[in-house]
This record gives sequence, structure tokens and C-alpha cells, in this order.
Amino acid sequence: MKSLGSIRRDFAPWADPGAKPYISFENVTKKFGDFTAVNNLSLNIYEREFFALLGASGCGKSTLLRMLAGFDEPTAGRILLDGQDLRGIPPYRRPVNMMFQSYALFPHMTVEANIAFGLKQDSMPRAEIDARVADMLKLVKLEQFAKRKPHQLSGGQRQRVALARSVAKRPKVLLLDEPLGALDKKLREETQFELMDLQQSLGLTFVVVTHDQEEAMTMADRIAILDKGEVMQVATPAEVYEAPGSRFVAGFVGNVNMFEGRIAGRTAAGAEIAGPNGLTIATSDAGGAEAGTAVAFAIRPEKIKVSSRKPADILANAMEGEIFDIAYLGDMTVYHVRLDHGQVVKASSLNASRITEDPLTWNDRAWISFPPDAGVVLTR
Ligand code: ATP
Repeated sequence: MKSLGSIRRDFAPWADPGAKPYISFENVTKKFGDFTAVNNLSLNIYEREFFALLGASGCGKSTLLRMLAGFDEPTAGRILLDGQDLRGIPPYRRPVNMMFQSYALFPHMTVEANIAFGLKQDSMPRAEIDARVADMLKLVKLEQFAKRKPHQLSGGQRQRVALARSVAKRPKVLLLDEPLGALDKKLREETQFELMDLQQSLGLTFVVVTHDQEEAMTMADRIAILDKGEVMQVATPAEVYEAPGSRFVAGFVGNVNMFEGRIAGRTAAGAEIAGPNGLTIATSDAGGAEAGTAVAFAIRPEKIKVSSRKPADILANAMEGEIFDIAYLGDMTVYHVRLDHGQVVKASSLNASRITEDPLTWNDRAWISFPPDAGVVLTR
């Protein structure tokens, strides 16, 4: 596969065949009565990785975290941490801590007492506790709020206290279940970057559960996309977006147009896909599919160009239709085009300048076009 570039940093132990996973789920199944919440799932997470479990409600994300933390045991299979089978080890003896949401702070205790709580329980000497709490307050930039109670803080500040409390005991792995769920959108975005900085500076392994794809894409080194207790794909955010392995993953992350058809034949430049009503698509890569195979050509809206005239520079993949909806989002405009062969396509265009050279409006005839390498061919 073509490299999609290093977006975040030069950290990719999963691509190194010699690297040993830090956390391994090996054929893990979890049943609640007759119901299978996690189904024969295998997954590796590496030391210092920021790993996200992403999936719709009920797909088994929290169950995976709870088993890793020790609040639940697998029905079958094993979970290894640094080579050690975790079965039977109680939560407090695992080098793992779970960050609960901000409302789990003790309301009657000050910020510093909240952070010190777990350290006191471990009977750490007073002077060490004070030093550790001071470190933590500095880390989450709450030094001047040490004496306040949780209700005297904003939602974002409370979240940072919860974070400081959960890393105070220096766990090797921090598990975060919807950590930013209680925050509004703007604060969420800020806190995402704070979490990433914190993870980097502490050198911890983070496993975060979220149903918010943007959040997973922003923060994680890799994402596991789950459905009904099974892993659909594990990959970097860029791979998940640009090289989804299935219709499910393509449709789950971001917006996508899906052209269904069959491989009509291989060409020197790749392959041709034939769909209903005379639709043909030229693709540079058939994804290994033979002629006759049913496939979907998945293409993101921003990779499709819309224009009022047939583009002169695109030889393949130019189709005519009519604009029937336009969503102006400020930074970009999304056009919904009903193609003459019937399919509706979404195409987005960035509003990089304040004046549009080729203005298009409702009911206009329009062309959509895209190069053969703008989408991926999916067989699953
Ligand atoms: P959400 O995003 O809604 O929190 P999730 O992906 O974290 O969802 P889980 O909490 O892992 O989902 O639950 C997975 C499935 O297992 C759900 O269908 C849930 O109803 C079921 N489940 C979880 N815990 C139990 C339990 N203790 N007893 C019975 N069923 C359970």
C-alpha cells in the first residue's frame, strides 16, 4: 500500500515486526448470559501508544476497557500486559488506572485533596504526596486552583483534576472511557490537545473509548473500529480515512460516496467498474478484485470536483447531473448532485477565497469529476 505520510510523528511500533506488543487481547470473548458482547477479539497495543476504541453504542468498547482494568474477566481468551496474563489479578494490583468522568470527583474535597486521595490510600509518606500533588497541579495547569472545591471550577478544569488524579499514581496504562463526554464542543477540542500533550510528556500508554470519530482521529496514533464485539479495522487515522478496508469502515468514518458495481475488466491503468444504468468508473487500483467481482468504489466528497462545464483536464470519471441541494458551511460548501444515471453524490468544495469563480445553484446542471486514484475499491 502507498504510504499515507506521517501526520503526527515518527512513532509506528506496530509497523516493526520485531516490536513486542505491550497489551494483547488474544481471542477474547465476553458473554453476558446468552449475549456475546465481545466476540473472539484479538488486538495489540504498543507501549506509549495513544490507542482509541471507536464504535457505535453497544459495540463492546467499555467492556474491553473494563476487562483490561480488571472489573470484568473474559469468558474465553486472555489479556496480556507486558507478557503477563492478567487473569485473576485484581484491579488495584494492575499497573492500569481508569479515568472516570469529572463528576466522579469528591465534591467535599479540595482539588489537591482529590488528587492526593489515591496516594494516601497507598500510605505514601506525606512529603512525597505533597511533592507529587504539586507536580500534578503543574502538569494540568491548575496550581492556583489547589484549594478550590470541584463546584468552584469549570467543566474543563474539573476534567483536568480528574486527569491529574488518575495519573498521580503513575500507572503505566491509563484507560479513559469517553473522557471528554461532559464537555462542550470548543472545550472538547482544547482538551483533546491537552490530553495528547500530557500523554506525550508522561510517556504513558493511553487507551481511550469514544464514539466520536473526530475525537479519535485527532488524538489517537491508531484506532480500532469495532462493530458488534468484533474488530473491523485497526489502523492510523489517515489509513482509516483514506484506505478503509470495508464498506462499514468507509461509511463509519467521515462522509463517503459509494458506487456499487462489478469489475468489468482490468485495463493498463487499473480497472473499470460497471454499475447500474451505464455508470462506469475508471480506477487505478482494483484492490486485488478479479473481473466480475462485486465491489464498491468509495470516494470522499472532497475528492470530487463540481463544475458547471465538463472539465477539460479529466479524461475518465466525469459525469453529468443536476444540483438539488447545497449546504453552505462557511469553510466549505457541500453540493448534492443527482447524476443522470440516478445516483446522488455529495461533493464538497473548500471556500478558500471569498468569491466563487464558478457559482452553482439549485437545479443547475453540473458535472462531477474525479481522477482514477481518488477513491478505493472495496470488496467487503
Ligand atoms: P456505549 O458507547 O453505549 O457505552 P459500548 O460500546 O461501551 O457502548 P458496552 O458497554 O461495552 O458498549 O456493552 C456492550 C454490550 O454488552 C451492550 O449491548 C450491553 O448492553 C451489554 N452489556 C454490557 N454490560 C453488561 C452486563 N453487565 N450485563 C449484560 N449485558 C451487558
